[in-house]
Amino acid sequence: MPNGHKDKAQAKRKAPVKPKTPVKPKTPVKPKTPVRNKRQRQRESEEDQGFIESGGEGFIQSEEEGFTQSGNEKKRLKPELKPNIDSEVLDESEVDVTESVGAQKIVKSSGSAKLGDPYQIDQDNRLNEYDTQSKKYKEHPWSKFHEMTTDLSPDYVKFAKNHLLGKPTSEGKKIDKINPRALSAISASLESCADKLVTELRSEDDVKIDLGANSKYGRILQRSVQAIRDKYGLLIDYVAEVQKDDQARNGLNSVKLRHPTQKWEDNKNNNNKIREEAKNAAIYLMSTNPVMQPTISRVAQNQHRESSNSAIIEAYASAICSDEGDIKLIKSLAEARLRYSPITYGSDIHLAVNKAAPSETEEWGLFNTLIHEALHSVQHPNFISFLDEHVPPGLQDYIKEGIVDYLTSQIWSDVLSEAPAKSSNRNSPSQDFNKPMQINNDAKKKYPEHYYAYDKQVETVKLLINKLKEDGEKRLISAYFGGNLGAFLPKLKDTEEEKI
Ligand SMILES: [Zn+2]
Repeated sequence: MPNGHKDKAQAKRKAPVKPKTPVKPKTPVKPKTPVRNKRQRQRESEEDQGFIESGGEGFIQSEEEGFTQSGNEKKRLKPELKPNIDSEVLDESEVDVTESVGAQKIVKSSGSAKLGDPYQIDQDNRLNEYDTQSKKYKEHPWSKFHEMTTDLSPDYVKFAKNHLLGKPTSEGKKIDKINPRALSAISASLESCADKLVTELRSEDDVKIDLGANSKYGRILQRSVQAIRDKYGLLIDYVAEVQKDDQARNGLNSVKLRHPTQKWEDNKNNNNKIREEAKNAAIYLMSTNPVMQPTISRVAQNQHRESSNSAIIEAYASAICSDEGDIKLIKSLAEARLRYSPITYGSDIHLAVNKAAPSETEEWGLFNTLIHEALHSVQHPNFISFLDEHVPPGLQDYIKEGIVDYLTSQIWSDVLSEAPAKSSNRNSPSQDFNKPMQINNDAKKKYPEHYYAYDKQVETVKLLINKLKEDGEKRLISAYFGGNLGAFLPKLKDTEEEKI
C-alpha cells in the first residue's frame, strides 16, 4: 500500500501543519448519528477496575474466560493519552489529507466520478491506474471492491454465528420478562462501574487545554488522518466517487478534537438525551467491561438460560433506562457516556486531556488512538445501518471496535515501518511535518506492530478473516469502507430463520 509518510516529505511544502484536504465537497455532510465509538480508555485505567474493555468475551465463548484478560491490557498501558480542550476544527481546507495516497493525489472532487491524475474511473465504475511503462491505464486491484459479493458460505455463517453469539445458530430466546433479581444484580454492578468511571473521567479532562488544529494534539490528529489516507485514501475516494456519497470521506476530512466535558455540559439538562446515552452506556459497559462480565454470566446461568448474552444486555439496558428506571443510575450512566474519552461522534473526536503537552512516548500512544478514532469517522453509512438491522445491540460495539482496531493495526504497521526507532534525533508525531517520523524505543516497545487496544474483539475479527481465507481481508475492507458489510458478516438476528 501506498503510504506514507513519504508524503510527509512531500508535504513539506506547506506550513507545518496541515495536511491538505482532498476534495471536499462542498457540503460538509456530517453524519449526524453520533456514532459512538470509544476506544480504550481502558488501557489507561485499567487495573482491575474495570474499564478495560476487554471485551466481549462474554459473547464469544462465554463461559470460561471471565475476564482474564485484563492481564494483557495492563501491559498495554495506560498511557495517558488524552487530549484537550475543545477544539476548533481543523479547518479542513487546509488539511491536506488527500494527498498521500500512493503518493499522488487523487481525487479531484467534483461530482462526477473522477479521481486525479494517475487514477480514473471508467464507465463501468472500475478504478484504473495509469501505468507509466505501458503508458496505458490498467485496472487497479481495488476496482469494484465495494461491490464484492455478499455470498457467504453456510459453513462460514455457522462459524461466525457460533463465535459471535456463543450459540450455534441463534441469538437465543428473546427476553420478554425482566427478572427482578437479575435486574437488581445488573443494576448494582452497573452503578458501581458507572460511578467509578464518572469520578475518573471528571478528573481527566481539563477544558483549558487547547485542542485546536495547531496544538500538539491537533497536530497528532492530522498525522493520524494522513496515515489513514496513506493506507486507504484511494479506496475511500473511489467509493465516494462511484457511490456519489461523500459522507464517509467528509467525515474523515472534517475530524476535530473536542473536550468531552463540553459534551456533558451541553447535554446534561436534556432528558431525552440523558436516557438515550444512559442506555448506550449500559449496553457498552455490559458488552465490553470485564467487571460486568461475571454478572452477565450469572444472570445467563441463573435466570435466562435460553437467551444469549446480547439478548440479555439489550433487555436489561432498556429496562434500566426506561421511565421507571432509577434516575440516579440513569444520570450516572449518561454522564459516563457523555464524558467518555476517547469517543467519536461523527467527526467530533472527544478526547479528555489534562496535560498541556504529552510526553514523546505519550504522543505515539495518542497517534495510535487517534488513528483508531478517526477511522470511526470514516465508516461507511451502510456499515451502521447493517449493524442496526442485523446485529443484536449488545454485539454491535464489540464488532465495531474489533473491525476498527484491526484496521488501525494495519495502518500502524505501515507507520512503524516508516518510522525507524532512534535514540536521538527523533521526530515525534506532533513535531516536524517535513521530516520522516522517528520513534523512540520506549514508544516502540509500548506500541509495537501488533498493538491492540481491543484484543479480544480483534481476535474475533481475525478469526473471521482467516476463515474467509484469502478474501477475508478484502471483504473486511469492502465492508467498512465500501459499506458492503454483508460481504463479511452474516446476519445475526434470527428474524428470518424464525419465520420459516
Ligand atoms: Zn473505537
